[in-house]
Amino acid sequence: MEKLQNFINGEYCDPTKGKYIDNYEPATGKVYSLIPNSDEEDVRLAVEAAEKAFPIWSKMSIEERSKILVKLSEGIEARMDEFVQAESKDNGKPLSLAANVDIPRAVSNFHFFATAILHFASESHNMEGVGINYTVRKPIGIVGCISPWNLPLYLFSWKIAPALAAGNCIVAKPSEVTPYTAYLLGKVAQEAGMPSGVMNILHGEGRSVGDAIVKHPKIKAISFTGGTQTGENIARTAAPMFKKLSLELGGKNPNIIFADCDFKEMLSTTLQSSFANQGQICLCGSRIFVERSIYNKFKEAFVKRVATTVVSNPKDPAAKMGAVVSKSHMEKVLSYVELAKEEGGTVLTGGVQVNLEAPYDGGYYLRPTVIEGLAFDCRTNQEEIFGPVVTITPFDTEEDVLMMANSTQYGLSATLWTSDLKRAHRIADQLQAGIVWINAWLVRDLRTPFGGVKASGVGREGGWEALRFFTEPKNIFIKY
Ligand code: NDP
Repeated sequence: MEKLQNFINGEYCDPTKGKYIDNYEPATGKVYSLIPNSDEEDVRLAVEAAEKAFPIWSKMSIEERSKILVKLSEGIEARMDEFVQAESKDNGKPLSLAANVDIPRAVSNFHFFATAILHFASESHNMEGVGINYTVRKPIGIVGCISPWNLPLYLFSWKIAPALAAGNCIVAKPSEVTPYTAYLLGKVAQEAGMPSGVMNILHGEGRSVGDAIVKHPKIKAISFTGGTQTGENIARTAAPMFKKLSLELGGKNPNIIFADCDFKEMLSTTLQSSFANQGQICLCGSRIFVERSIYNKFKEAFVKRVATTVVSNPKDPAAKMGAVVSKSHMEKVLSYVELAKEEGGTVLTGGVQVNLEAPYDGGYYLRPTVIEGLAFDCRTNQEEIFGPVVTITPFDTEEDVLMMANSTQYGLSATLWTSDLKRAHRIADQLQAGIVWINAWLVRDLRTPFGGVKASGVGREGGWEALRFFTEPKNIFIKY
């Protein structure tokens, strides 16, 4: 059985205590590799390596740093097939999704921040006749990056690329559920000529190695993406240590459909925004609100399309959906379907496991599920399910739908379908969300601020926001 290793000080190494945990293939339900079960001792070694590397990396010219990160991005591109296969096997997502979205986006993340840093500038503020302020932005030092399992390399690179570009050294942890592509990254960093100790990648459980990263006094900032509850725990530990924190947390996003929308485009995009990546994207629109005059038309057309969506093993080119990430996650999603029924909902399609033939008979496959008849404030409509389950609810007025859309503790993203420009602006302005898509979903420009309000997080990633997070500003005043 293959044993994954940590990547510390530019080299692959075993966890200090020699402990491992099983890594499952969601498509088959079988263990296919072992992951280091690292702890605070491994974090200590990683921090030591990062501390030594920091003066080298932070003082290197920006052009040189940029070149190494461009090489890293090219290195992933050159091994595209290896990364695509690994991501799909580790996560259960269709190969086509890993090939078209996840890995190309990881390539772009490195390339984007490798070049963005060349243009990053700081401010100056002139005080007429008095003096001038200039602000310098320096890397923080050693930063911790912790990412989830749903878009493994995509989200891992979205954090570590700006952290490294800004001149920091990192101690990073991918989710224990999907460690493989982050594991492969070590090789690519070696080939790209990244100095030893700049990028340290540790594997293991959040509650041990993740917690040790958050607690380490020499790690000065934490960039975290994951569940709201975990974010709360991290904030509780990090706040008294005055660490800089960026928290990208859960969502329960509304998808609001007005009768005057382009129905065909809305329908096909809504299928995507509901079930892409088995519904395991923090931006999926899991609460669909439909103007009453087209509710029945939408319901009929949507349910028909959902019921014929192909759920299959990730290697099947026909698969529109693969396996969800783990057995426990599958059970959690199914428990929400039961809860929805108890709360008075009607399952219009799905709600059940899919049993494929061997060797995929032990895999974690679910039919995409559509539920109607629920109150907007019931638990099914308020709690994050993070799987292939959406609810549909009719509405009568803008006021009503805004009230329902804004009723959850979350505020990550929202989608809005209408041809009325004034209404689009009016509603977008009042939605409590960090990101609003109008007549579209998941169109991403890497320069824009990314993140949520309320319990969906603190801070923003993307573009200058990320580079500002990973640097510390110092203002200097000189008298005229
Ligand atoms: P978790 O919060 O369970 O885990 C996220 C990461 O944190 C994992 O690497 C995990 O390790 C680690 N972790 C867990 N406990 C701790 C701890 N006490 N200290 C430090 N690290 C810890 O989230 P999931 O992996 O289940 O991901 C799904 C969640 O992520 C959903 O809520 C989703 O909405 C959210 N998400 C948010 C996004 C956004 O941009 N806002 C984007 C994508 C997902 P391990 O799992 O190995 O134990």
